[in-house]
Amino acid sequence: MIPGLPHAAHYMQLPREVLIGSDVAALVGETIGRLGFHGPALVVTGDTVISIAGAMALESLRKQGVKTETTSVQSSTTEEVARVEKRIRELDPDIVVGLGGGKDIDVAKLGSMRAGKSFVSVPTTASHDGIASPLVSMKGLERPYSYVAHSPIAIIADTSIIGKSPYRLIAAGCGDVVAKYTAVRDWKLAHRIKNEYYGDYAAELALMSSRVVMKNASSIRAMSDSGVRTLVEALISCGVAMSIAGTSRPCSGAEHLFSHSLAMIAPKPALHGEQCGVGTIMCAYLHGANWQLIKDFLQTIGAPTTAKELGIGPEYILKALAMAHSIRPERYTILGESGLTKDAALRVATITGVIEQ
Ligand SMILES: [Zn+2]
Repeated sequence: MIPGLPHAAHYMQLPREVLIGSDVAALVGETIGRLGFHGPALVVTGDTVISIAGAMALESLRKQGVKTETTSVQSSTTEEVARVEKRIRELDPDIVVGLGGGKDIDVAKLGSMRAGKSFVSVPTTASHDGIASPLVSMKGLERPYSYVAHSPIAIIADTSIIGKSPYRLIAAGCGDVVAKYTAVRDWKLAHRIKNEYYGDYAAELALMSSRVVMKNASSIRAMSDSGVRTLVEALISCGVAMSIAGTSRPCSGAEHLFSHSLAMIAPKPALHGEQCGVGTIMCAYLHGANWQLIKDFLQTIGAPTTAKELGIGPEYILKALAMAHSIRPERYTILGESGLTKDAALRVATITGVIEQ
């Protein structure tokens, strides 16, 4: 929210340019030039990605005559954000480029916002919608879930680089997109029960992303260029849906609360999108919606649909289900205000086959 905004007014912060396709990482320099940034750039990136996409991006910045510094992200923690923010303040670049996986982009997003600089998102993986959204989540923040930082001014998603990332990350991205199926149902419910703001446009955009990804399951599974592109476009649309809504509501409901709970309690949590996918199966059941459709889709993709496939013990699944309503009490969902009883948690997890009877 921005200061001085009248009560009933709605604020949207959207990316200005989005480039998706093979070899677009070579257009980073040109894109920021077109956006009016000519001064120094700070590239915030992980050690492992610099050799893949970084070379292309750095070369394009060099060609553009942009003086560039690089800092490598070690972890997605508040300490790391503080270090990057300090680096940004010292260097005073015109623009920050977040290049890499979700962790690198989250650190660039939050660090740049705190230092008052614009940032460009150059994702090298498609494992969740944070690559395009104004939201960040990381360990050490006061809340275990994501919250609004700022939108990237541009998104440059190179599908040839993303298509070379491990398939597990692509499958996880599908889980994060299909989660919108229940997230939007929760948002509608909160509108009816709590009179919470609800935006049809943002909701439809998020739902459309999940529909399109479900329709293209086999081409995503085959990692075809068009399949990867479909997933990346869906993740970007989800990010835009959140930018339009000004909240993560269209993209994050009870299935996300379940995933955040697992991240807090499981000895070895799975990937965010993997956990959200399994959460979506169970939350679809709770909504009386077609949970089998979600399960079939995730099986086609090759994403986990059971506790065993997540590598998480059934006791943690049940505990996460029972505590999910409590970690963000103001976010009303199908879990209600008091959450699932132990018996109800066991029932939903066994009926949907997430845990064995
Ligand atoms: Zn998510």
